[in-house]
Amino acid sequence: MRLKIIQVGEPALRNPARPLSPEEIKGAPLRQLIEFMRETMQDAPGVGLAAPQVGMPVQLAVMEDRVEYHQSLTPEQLAERERTPVPFHVILNPRLTLLDKDGHAEFLEGCLSFNGFSALVPRARRVRVECFDHTGEPKVIEASGWYARILQHEIDHLHGTLYIDRMHTRSLMTAENLQRHWKDKSIAEIRAALKISE
Ligand code: ZN
Repeated sequence: MRLKIIQVGEPALRNPARPLSPEEIKGAPLRQLIEFMRETMQDAPGVGLAAPQVGMPVQLAVMEDRVEYHQSLTPEQLAERERTPVPFHVILNPRLTLLDKDGHAEFLEGCLSFNGFSALVPRARRVRVECFDHTGEPKVIEASGWYARILQHEIDHLHGTLYIDRMHTRSLMTAENLQRHWKDKSIAEIRAALKISE
């Protein structure tokens, strides 16, 4: 079943999500929600979906970055983004640590809850996430590049934060204008053209 993805302006996107109890993690309703969120994300399509985006205030996100999604990017763009496929998986009750000493990266990012727009968003290049998997087993994820970006974006949702809170505001653009003006530009060229100085 495909769930409705709520859009920016819905109060639910701004509320912190609550942790799941061990009983909930092992329960059938959560497995059902994960399956519905998986279908909803793949149908969108998107590389991540957090429970608050479907109106559920719990600390759960699903993610998957498929090779098919990379076809619109050149090998150079994929390398610059450190973007490689990520198999479908779930994170529950995550705790995020930014490994800041490994630097930041800045790329155009979008969100299924702010349909039709993108902006340049600076993010840590590497992160560590302590969480539980779908079976309730504790798990530590160390990620870099685009996967680290997806994790930061989804965990932000669990705290009521959206990418627009972190973006360079001058870089906000419609999907149509991204295609028309910016798709083939480097990040340095986009920054210069949009007069982003910070
Ligand atoms: Zn999002």
